[in-house]
Parts: sequence; structure tokens; C-alpha cells
Amino acid sequence: MRKHFKVFPRISAVLLLLTFCSPGFGAESQQLPPNKTSFNDRLSTAYAYSSRGQSKKAEKIFQDLMRSNPREAIIYDTYVQALQNDEQFDRALQILKQAEQQIPARRENFQAKRVQIEKQKKFSREMTAAPSWDKARIFASSEFVMQTNIPQTYLPVVTQKIRGILKKEQEMLKGILGPSDSMISGMKFIVIGRPHDYLIFMKEKYHDDTGLVAGLYDEQARQMIIYFDGSADWKVIAHEMVHALIRELYYPKPSHFVDEGLAEYVSHKIEKESMKSELLDKLEYSMWLYHQGKFQDVSDLFTVWKKYERPSSFVGQEKTSRQFYLIAWSFNELFIETKDEMIRKFYRGYLAYEQSRSYNDWRSASDYFKAHLSPDQMNKLNKAWTNFLFERTYESI
Ligand SMILES: [Zn+2]
Repeated sequence: MRKHFKVFPRISAVLLLLTFCSPGFGAESQQLPPNKTSFNDRLSTAYAYSSRGQSKKAEKIFQDLMRSNPREAIIYDTYVQALQNDEQFDRALQILKQAEQQIPARRENFQAKRVQIEKQKKFSREMTAAPSWDKARIFASSEFVMQTNIPQTYLPVVTQKIRGILKKEQEMLKGILGPSDSMISGMKFIVIGRPHDYLIFMKEKYHDDTGLVAGLYDEQARQMIIYFDGSADWKVIAHEMVHALIRELYYPKPSHFVDEGLAEYVSHKIEKESMKSELLDKLEYSMWLYHQGKFQDVSDLFTVWKKYERPSSFVGQEKTSRQFYLIAWSFNELFIETKDEMIRKFYRGYLAYEQSRSYNDWRSASDYFKAHLSPDQMNKLNKAWTNFLFERTYESI
């Protein structure tokens, strides 16, 4: 299914930016700056300039934004990300120091970021002596094949991490979808260590110029492409790995709802520590939507799913994709973790229904929900879902 692959690099890239947009979110709901739209536009424009290599233009906008909004964390986060992509580590460290002074409340986050950037800086120095991509080495084990140009010293860590994620996720999926008749074998991992090599690879192989995305899964070639910078974003890789495992071990054509919902659910559990702040942002966002009257009951699932499948514009897609990931994750987590036997049974039936079909969309899911839940049960599900979102929010604050 070509579509899956074509959409994903874009979505992952969008997610990357959204992750950084999130810290500003709490502030947004309380005190909306007067020209918030133009603020967001300018910030995305600056980021876009920098990913296209026009760093002078980007720098100017970032500096302007920092001058007029010195306490907006999102500017520093986005600027630092742009500098990291550009391998301007010293400049990124400088900006982070500035951010720490301006927003002492977020000092811990900024310091953690500095540690990560120091790692990247070290790795980047070591990569200058590493072989170019056309001389990348290939290793094979019983589970997978790996092609990489990263220095030998990093190999054990990366291999262990991949093995660990594979193993834990297989176990979790077994608990959710049951045992599988298939085995993982022959999957390929392409681990690229130099940003330039990664960008060229993506451009030549996939005509993609989204920028540096931590990981993506190409289901046709059965390969995972990982951009490693000394401290890879394993959250993204854990998410993509679920897409791979569902296809390798369970069903070739899952619906977006189950596919993205499980990818979010499982990766949240596997990379728990590094997902903490992202989870809180997600929940805050869901509460905000809830108070706006946008998330009230199970029919929202189908409304958002429908919009996600047919985005009207790129901006529209960015908005609905964020809502869609949130809604798919929360419903799947509720279905998996609820103690309510009726809801558990319903989910088992729904998964079996999906597995028996070659095509699943929001319409067929909506029909299934209507046909298999009485009005009372539907009510119960709506309540359970709202409670779930509230409980999770209180737990994580
Ligand atoms: Zn995904």
C-alpha cells in the first residue's frame, strides 16, 4: 500500500514539529497572545526556511520572535531543533542557555536538551571519520539485516536497542492481538549516521525532502530507516516499529484507527520515560478540545477519522492528524486497559472484524459500532472514554 508509506514521513515530520509546539499549548489556552496566528505562521516559516537550507532567513525570524516574546518556550525549542538539524551544536547550546535564563521554570527540560546536544556533537565529530554511505557495512542476524555507516563503537548500543524494542513490542502485541503464526525474519534496518547521507538517501530512494525524521517504515521493502545522530529519537522508532510488527506478524492492511492507535499505545508504554511530557501535552490538548465541545463522544472518532483520510489542505491535515492520533490512541488504550467486560468483548470482536476484511475505513467502523452496541452500551462507552481522558490527565499532572 503505497499510501501508507507516502503519508508517513510527512506525518512523522509534522509530529516532530508538533512535539515542540506543545509546550506553548498550556499557555495558549490561558492567555492567547493577540496575534497568535501570525506568531505560529512565522515560527513555522522560520523552521521551513531552515530545513530548506536558508538559515540566514530562518535566523532573522527566530531572533525577531525571541525579542518580542522572550518567554515563549516554543520559540527556543523550535530554533534549537532547527540548529540541531543543521549540526550547529554550539549555537544551539548558546540558545538553550539564553532560554534557561528567560524561562527558569523549564530549566530542567533545557538542561536535558543540552545533554542530548553534547552527545550529538561528539557523535558528529566521530562521524567525520566514518565511511560514506556507499561504503556502509551490512550485518545479518537471524531476526534482521542491518546496513549502517555509524562508527563501530555505537553498534552494540543501537543493535541492543532495536532488539529490545522488537522483543518488548512483540510481547505486548501478543497480549493484545493474540499469538501470531509468523516470525520476524529478514526485516531490514537501515541506520544512517550522517544527516547529509540521510537526506540524499531519502531524496534518491523516496523522492522525499521532508528533512531529518528519526525513523520511518517502508512496508513494501520491509525496511525501517533510522536516522541516528548519537541519541536517536527512539520514541519515533518505537512507534514505527509497531507498524512494522503489525504487518509482519498480524495483518497486512490494518485500518488507520488500529494501526496508529496501537503504534501510539505500545510506543507510549515502551518508551515511557521519554514520552512523559508528550503524553501530558496530548492530554492537555484533549482537555482543551473537550472544553471547546470538540470531543464529546464516540462519534468524534468517526468525524476525525473521516477528515484525517481526506485532508482538505496541509494545515488542515496537520490539525486533524494531531486530533486523529490522540483519539486513536485514547480509544485503543481504553479498549485494551478497561476492566469493563462488555467493552473488552466489543474490542475483541472489532479486531476480529478488521482482521477479516481487506479494507477498513471510518464508515465500516462506524457501521460496526452501531450494529454491535445498543444505545445503552454506546452511552456506557462514551462515559468510559470521557472518564478515561480525565483520569489520565489527573494522573499525569
Ligand atoms: Zn504511525
